[in-house]
Amino acid sequence: MNWRNFNKSGNVEDRRGGGVRRAGGLGLGGIVIAVIGGLIFGVNPLQILGLLGGGTSYTTQGNVNTSTPAMQRDLEFVQSVLGDTERVWGDVFKRGGQTYSPPKLVLFSAQTDSGCGTAQSAMGPFYCPSDQKVYLDTQFYSELRGTSGNDFAKAYVIAHEVGHHVQNLLGISEKADAQAARGSKATANAISVRIELQADCFAGIWGKSGAALSGASQADIAAALETAREIGDDTLQRASRGAVVPDSFTHGSSAQRQRWFTIGLQTGDVAKCNTFAAKTL
Ligand SMILES: [Zn+2]
Repeated sequence: MNWRNFNKSGNVEDRRGGGVRRAGGLGLGGIVIAVIGGLIFGVNPLQILGLLGGGTSYTTQGNVNTSTPAMQRDLEFVQSVLGDTERVWGDVFKRGGQTYSPPKLVLFSAQTDSGCGTAQSAMGPFYCPSDQKVYLDTQFYSELRGTSGNDFAKAYVIAHEVGHHVQNLLGISEKADAQAARGSKATANAISVRIELQADCFAGIWGKSGAALSGASQADIAAALETAREIGDDTLQRASRGAVVPDSFTHGSSAQRQRWFTIGLQTGDVAKCNTFAAKTL
């Protein structure tokens, strides 16, 4: 994927460098624990982030450190992908007679403050609705096979988080939260799965347009699908405790994540991403 063709976004906040960085990061094990913790305690990862926030601040806001070529490349990559999501969603909203207001993306290392509590690398990337920012430690990419060395797969992860921002703008997240609050834990999980799968479908909508522009290959698309598989709940559960418990899925199975990303990728149509109306996920 040649992302150098993309117009860069001005909405990336670089908070890396100068802060506390744990040597080597926490690894996939840490991510799994955080996700499984969420499943067991029935709270979503954002709430865990809030719980983890002990008031200690390691934020390095405003301290832009792009001293190494790798850091500079990461910054330009993220600016380019975010810029391309702005192009794609700007067009979609315009066609619907609306104006797209893009999210900010915070690049951080180890941890930083967010509107949803302390953001930690171990949680993986996430979107915080209250400050409308995506939080990303690019260290996450080295934890996954799909994203190792594949830019299209890395971009899919960003496009998924931007998908949550689109859900927020469209009022989908708010409705889903209200519905989840009224229902049982199983209902809340089922709603969460639909939210996640829709964000995958929205990522596919970016993928269709972004891929066409950047000349993404079949291998790139395969790597993105592998990433969707790797971050599916059943894969994470199997990796962490050797068994799969479908009732506690909050992100959807690997097959479901791949399916909805593919629907977005093939149709490029927001209406086709209505996971809430789908009989089969
Ligand atoms: Zn998500």
